[in-house]
Amino acid sequence: MIGAHISDDHIVALNTTHGEIECDWVVNAAGAWSPRVSRSLGGMDLRISPLKRYLWFLSTRNHEVVAPNKWNELPMTIYGMGAGRGVYSRPESSSLMLGWAHETPPEPNFVDADQDLVEPMFADIPMGDRAVALMSQVADFSPVLAECGAVTSITCGYYETTPDHNPMIGFDDRVANLVHAAGFSGHGLMHAPITALLVREIIRGVDTEAAVSLPVPFEQHTLSLRTFAPNRPINLDKKEHLVI
Ligand SMILES: Cc1cc2nc3c(=O)[nH]c(=O)nc-3n(C[C@H](O)[C@H](O)[C@H](O)COP(=O)(O)OP(=O)(O)OC[C@H]3O[C@@H](n4cnc5c(N)ncnc54)[C@H](O)[C@@H]3O)c2cc1C
Repeated sequence: MIGAHISDDHIVALNTTHGEIECDWVVNAAGAWSPRVSRSLGGMDLRISPLKRYLWFLSTRNHEVVAPNKWNELPMTIYGMGAGRGVYSRPESSSLMLGWAHETPPEPNFVDADQDLVEPMFADIPMGDRAVALMSQVADFSPVLAECGAVTSITCGYYETTPDHNPMIGFDDRVANLVHAAGFSGHGLMHAPITALLVREIIRGVDTEAAVSLPVPFEQHTLSLRTFAPNRPINLDKKEHLVI
């Protein structure tokens, strides 16, 4: 999508690199790019910040931490919460994957290549200061796992983070047939099913003040479509604080 044909407050067609596509509805599900996509469609300012996040992969070949057939059963584990805590790990194939929410400035003007750019202070192969610091958090809970090996690769990407770490799912303020579904703040895979359900209800014309019934196993509960409205007042008391 490189632009739009807008008439009154409606998007009539999207301009794409493959030509023009007429549309009844547009769903902005562009993740870290969603604020700029909204702008290019004449839509509202979305309070979504791209924040760089890294994942470290440690070799476990020379360190039989658990029996090989039990390796993949290791649970995802968070090594404490609060200041200086919050490292998490899980097995990824034969490696141990490690992540952490470090403090980082928003990068609203990132270019595509920046997604894969590992900053020097995070380039820990085979074991730099940052990886040592992360493993010391692991060591406090599992000294054996902390000895499991050295970093063999690092990857990164942008979390698309909102001020309250909840997504923005709902109508745009300015463009009547534009719906946003973005800002999953690092939880977008987990939020995908409920997002699809809510977007469907919004486009079906369910009253935005109505409560939506949820599928099994949450059938005892309902969810108000206002909960994730992009223009909702953000209650920072409920902010999920960055763990540093
Ligand atoms: C290191 C890391 C670890 C993560 N781990 C987890 C996890 O364990 N669990 C979890 O639930 N989530 C995790 N996430 C978050 C998850 O990856 C995202 O929340 C999720 O991918 C967001 O999905 P999305 O479809 O909204 O956006 P994206 O997956 O970012 O997709 C947006 C798409 O829009 C495209 N786009 C941008 N501009 C345009 C345009 N103008 N026209 C057309 N297309 C465009 C982009 O190319 C992209 O393909 C992690 C993220 C990172 C960075």
